[in-house]
Amino acid sequence: MRAVRRFTVHARIPDQLAGLTALATNLRWTWHPPTRDLFASMDDALFRRVRDPLRMLTVIPARKLEELASDAGFLARTRDAVDDLERYLSEPRWYQRRAAEDAGTTDHDERFPSAVAYFSMEFGVHEALPNYSGGLGVLAGDHLKAASDLGVPVVGVGPLYRAGYFRQSLSLDGWQIEHYPVIDPSGLPLELLTEPSGEPVLVRVAMPGGRELQAQIWEARVGRVPLLLLDTDVEGNDEDLRGVTDRLYGGDADHRIRQEILAGIGGMRAVRRYCELTGHPQPEVFHTNEGHAGFLGLERAREILKGSDLSFDDVLSAVRAGTVFTTHTPVSAGIDRFPVDLVQHYFGDGRLLPEIDPRRVLALGAEDNPNMFNMAHMGLRLAQRANGVSALHGRVSRRMFGKLWPGFDTEEVPVRSVTNGVHGPTWVAREMSALLGGSDEEWGHDGDGGSGKAGVTDEELWALRRELRGNLVAEVRRRARDAWLQRGASALELGWTERIFNPDVLTVGFARRVPTYKRLTLMLRDPERLRALLLDEQRPIQFVVAGKSHPADEGGKALIQQIVRFVDDPEVRQRIVFLPDYGMSMARYLYRGCDVWLNNPTRPLEACGTSGMKAALNGGLNLSTMDGWWDEYYDGSNGWAIPTADGVTDPLQRDDLEADALYDLLGQQIAPLFYERDAGGVPKGWMSMVWHTLRTLGPRVQASRMVREYVDSYYVPAATTVAAASDEHYAGSRSLAAYRTKLDLYWGRVRVLDTELTYDGTDSLVVGKEVRVRAGIDLAGLDESDVDVQVVVGRVGDTDDLHDVETVPMWPSGRGGYEATLRLPHAGALGYTVRVLPKHPLLAGPAELGKVVLA
Ligand SMILES: *Cc1c(COP(=O)(O)O)cnc(C)c1O
Repeated sequence: MRAVRRFTVHARIPDQLAGLTALATNLRWTWHPPTRDLFASMDDALFRRVRDPLRMLTVIPARKLEELASDAGFLARTRDAVDDLERYLSEPRWYQRRAAEDAGTTDHDERFPSAVAYFSMEFGVHEALPNYSGGLGVLAGDHLKAASDLGVPVVGVGPLYRAGYFRQSLSLDGWQIEHYPVIDPSGLPLELLTEPSGEPVLVRVAMPGGRELQAQIWEARVGRVPLLLLDTDVEGNDEDLRGVTDRLYGGDADHRIRQEILAGIGGMRAVRRYCELTGHPQPEVFHTNEGHAGFLGLERAREILKGSDLSFDDVLSAVRAGTVFTTHTPVSAGIDRFPVDLVQHYFGDGRLLPEIDPRRVLALGAEDNPNMFNMAHMGLRLAQRANGVSALHGRVSRRMFGKLWPGFDTEEVPVRSVTNGVHGPTWVAREMSALLGGSDEEWGHDGDGGSGKAGVTDEELWALRRELRGNLVAEVRRRARDAWLQRGASALELGWTERIFNPDVLTVGFARRVPTYKRLTLMLRDPERLRALLLDEQRPIQFVVAGKSHPADEGGKALIQQIVRFVDDPEVRQRIVFLPDYGMSMARYLYRGCDVWLNNPTRPLEACGTSGMKAALNGGLNLSTMDGWWDEYYDGSNGWAIPTADGVTDPLQRDDLEADALYDLLGQQIAPLFYERDAGGVPKGWMSMVWHTLRTLGPRVQASRMVREYVDSYYVPAATTVAAASDEHYAGSRSLAAYRTKLDLYWGRVRVLDTELTYDGTDSLVVGKEVRVRAGIDLAGLDESDVDVQVVVGRVGDTDDLHDVETVPMWPSGRGGYEATLRLPHAGALGYTVRVLPKHPLLAGPAELGKVVLA
């Protein structure tokens, strides 16, 4: 029999234990071991099975609860834990100290935003809230957790999927099978947001044909950070609209645009209502993690326009000022686009955003192809600040989006980068934090109040590394057995799974989604060489492999099948395994237990990558192509770089070359170093690399570093500009709009008439010599205060292109002339030019408007 409907009945918690509910419903327990210890102490075996405090409260027998309610020791420990949580939630942390410091300086003109709304299509906080597919979602979860630890007032917003992302299993012949278990939000650590009347809060967005899409809002508490999740499975919706938040990345363009309209416009409305109801400060800055929620900028324009006498242009600068757009896509093909007709279908009747002319909406997403609406282009046009997620990805993005800023060199395109980071307390093994200590925000709370020992020896760290590898081996055996049971094997045939893998063998991990560019099967390029590495008698290597393919990607599934067929061979299965259903719960064991974390994307297609950072925090060494974060952080002794065959255009040849390099590194450098032991059995050379990784990468790969960077370089400047643009009835924003209109009128006729370089004396030019540059400029009706004039000097190549440039401001010298003096910066062939740029106090940089006049 199947149930027609399912629901969750909550246990009755004795009053004395009410604190447990507070502890179980705040997801801080996911990165706070002492809270988990408290729940484990209720029934250790049971907790090890359910691993989730809220489920623990549902499954623990009522009798046991009553017993605990009169256990003075347990009650005292519960009270302490609740007090600790209360303190964590209310005490001033880094952000509050930083804001206070800034307020204390004399020239303080920076504004620390009262709140920042963070939009993402997925959030991976913990497997107890399965609302993510992979890296992007886990990054969003880590962002919220680090913001919480630092006290940054972030509110997360996104959809709640009824069937999340799929769970993966394998058929007997190694083909990926997808399952979509349906969640019941009332059984998850979520609380339904309600009106004072007790009715659920509903956000509404207009749909074509006079219809309306409604969503209720579930709140998850991620430490100090509220995470609002929109759920369209409500009775008021037409049947097809109930399914808008059915699953992550499923469905066609129509399904996706509905999800994105809901995430952006509905998400804004949810945040607004949440703040009204709870007294939480309204956000001033809006950060979109990838462009899917980009419509939020339009909703903010609508809010301001409603009932005002302002125009869309008047408010555009204020909206742009408050928006931060993070792109994660290094290839044009990966950009989110919709047919223009589809966008017209949703926005065209003017009901969705009554205050905004639909033609303005369409113009924001314009791209080369007049039939397509480009979400990234809209994101860049509606956000004054934009960034990629590693230094390399920043460079790639500037090239990719450079067309939006014609006339500017790639380096000047206003897309910068913040390298991703990972939340230490989530990903670092507890034993590792206990051994090494460090701050709670970065290394996690070891639970013993200890802060690590001074002078930890190689022997101690090596022993811990072996323990973590051992935990992984046990998990591999357990999961391999389960996987075979699912594939139809009987328990009797599976004795061998007890004996696979070895806690003393060099362990390499490779786990990630399976798009082509990540090259899951690069290791299989020469199966005989791989086999030789696995089965080497002196220096064997064992491989743990995992990854999900997008359900629509048959090619990805074929790659998985190729791996599975290889590992199914009884001769190698003791040393290599493919574990189905890669997710956070499995990932934890991998990042902690692997000695080497392998990553071999085709450069530069990996925007950042974060799994290697999690391995590094646990003393794992990275082995990766020079892509994403590794291109920036590899220093020659914190792991190994697989040389990339850049410039080899035949992909198969490129794979051959890079695979060869991979086998060579593994066989000739990595395994020998791992197995070279001192008298006490410790690999000294290896350990020195582990220490070096922990010391140097440890602080840099942290999400706390990432969030601090967002605060200092994005959120605070954004809030400061928002205030300047919105004060006095948007005077600043209107002035910038008027300025843009003026530029549109006159800019086309601005000219650099002539330029001249002079210097004193007759001797030849040497580096550092002072020279004068003069230029005649026709401002064509603009005022001197409307423009910046600059001389740009740098090296020139054969084509007279300037590079390694310096820019020096020029000053009016009367009669339409501008002048500057500068020192020659380099020896060799130099050149210069003069350029005119727009100038307005609310512009974040000279390239922002994409306007420049060159000599
Ligand atoms: C960190 C993480 C990822 C992202 O890893 P990449 O290196 O970006 O591929 C994916 N899935 C899970 C479960 C993770 O924890």
